[in-house]
Amino acid sequence: MNSIKQQISAISQTLPERVRLVAVSKFHPAETIMEAYRAGQRLFGESRAQELSAKAASLPSDISWHFIGHLQTNKVKHVVSVAAMIESIDSLRLLEAVDHEAQRQGRTVNVLLQVHVAMEETKFGFTPDEIIEYFTGRKFEQLKATHICGLMAMASNTDDPARINDDFARVAELFRRIITIAPDLRGFTELSMGMSDDYPIAISHGATLVRIGSSIFGPRQY
Ligand SMILES: *Cc1c(COP(=O)(O)O)cnc(C)c1O
Repeated sequence: MNSIKQQISAISQTLPERVRLVAVSKFHPAETIMEAYRAGQRLFGESRAQELSAKAASLPSDISWHFIGHLQTNKVKHVVSVAAMIESIDSLRLLEAVDHEAQRQGRTVNVLLQVHVAMEETKFGFTPDEIIEYFTGRKFEQLKATHICGLMAMASNTDDPARINDDFARVAELFRRIITIAPDLRGFTELSMGMSDDYPIAISHGATLVRIGSSIFGPRQY
């Protein structure tokens, strides 16, 4: 396999200017992240609270960390204190816990709402209807220290590009609909979708953040 630097550079060349690369470093050690850092990468994605805390404490402070995994409410404290963005807000309960903790820490936290459109059954993520209800009811006005910057989604885990295309199209449509429902919503601009195997399709549907792990770092050692 090519070096991490070569992979980052090859992927970056295919990204339109509006798209930022989140290098998903979960399960990879700090030395591996430093290799990407030396290649100029500053935005990384982690999916476990403890792993994020440990890495953030030992790696350069100009790294931006995006949290992308399921977050339990009892770990919100650690993630709010280090993450530049929590992409995986998957319930109202979690959103409230994050807002409460951000207030307590005296900071504002940037988040994305995770939408579930994939065909797999999962208990994580809002349905498109729940998202529409949230914005129609203007519930975001209750947030005191949380800024909703957009949506995050994963496509179905399938080799069928038509299905993946449909999933991303639905998320993109939902994103545009929210903007018409709440045109006064500020800074609702991020659409995080696309991973190693499907990011070109996500970009064709307007992704602004792509979360790429294995294509950069190789397979994960669980
Ligand atoms: C692990 C993970 C990724 C990266 O997946 P790859 O297939 O390795 O690129 C992206 N998004 C989320 C939410 C993840 O958990």
